[in-house]
Amino acid sequence: MVKMGLNSEGSQLSCGCGSSCLGPMTFHSEAKGQLVTLSEDGRRATRDTSSFRHGLIFSSRPLRVQEKVCVRIERCVMGWHGALRVGFTSVAPGSRAVPSLAIPELTDFPGYWAIPVPEQQCLPGSEVIFWIGPSGSLHVQTADGQRHRMKTRVDKHKPIWAMIDVYGQTNTVLLLGSMKKCFFSTRRSCPVPTVEPTEETCGYSNVPIEILERMMNQNSLEEQENRKNDNLSCCQSNRKSTGYESMEECVVCYSDIADVMLTCGHRCVCSHCAWRVLSEFGTCPLCRYRLRPIDSDDCT
Ligand SMILES: [Zn+2]
Ligand SMILES: [Zn+2]
Ligand SMILES: [Zn+2]
Repeated sequence: MVKMGLNSEGSQLSCGCGSSCLGPMTFHSEAKGQLVTLSEDGRRATRDTSSFRHGLIFSSRPLRVQEKVCVRIERCVMGWHGALRVGFTSVAPGSRAVPSLAIPELTDFPGYWAIPVPEQQCLPGSEVIFWIGPSGSLHVQTADGQRHRMKTRVDKHKPIWAMIDVYGQTNTVLLLGSMKKCFFSTRRSCPVPTVEPTEETCGYSNVPIEILERMMNQNSLEEQENRKNDNLSCCQSNRKSTGYESMEECVVCYSDIADVMLTCGHRCVCSHCAWRVLSEFGTCPLCRYRLRPIDSDDCT
């Protein structure tokens, strides 16, 4: 028989950790998006990179008010728009089919609340904390220390589960557990996390072939043009020196001007993304030409 303890808030603990434990918490093993795989005893969720959606997950048990849930973004995949969404629900996970998206497919229904975490706060290794405030609002704290709040009309006396959408650029998240500050102590969930944020666990996953093909179709004309310039290197990024005045968007971030020409001849990334492309992939996002590492001597 499993040893049961009763904590100060009256809920039963099956872990036997004692009163400092908020109770075991993992991701819900049944209620999850179609493309989600759980590992690390249900505390790591990975969405297949073939889609930006079908990455919904829930907590295995309801949360307490002001119980702060912490997740680490371990892996990202470039190319998709948007990233992690966090929130909670008063609808028991598993009582309804899990749709492909939290926003808007669930948040259109009563009992679901979620907000997108800004992309720049969802880099590999970033930690995101979210919780139910005393008034029942959704609070989110991002890696830069910024806090975001969403007013909700959640009935905090009913059970409320954490809801996470491993969406877009966010590919893998690790549940670091939860904590709740009490008068003289901090109570935590179990089991205690043991996975460190290392280069092995945190980084970028490969861009899916569908995205690469989409990029190639969009840029096929420009590609032909650029093929003529075989010898140009990434260092010839100064538009004036080549007389190139195009204002094409970067195919990675879609926000900055693509002013860096890669060694394959594709002027397809901005200087910020060029560094990431070179260090994380080592291949051109359009043609997958293996790029030579940046060498400052080439610039002279
Ligand atoms: Zn415990
Ligand atoms: Zn860019
Ligand atoms: Zn290329």
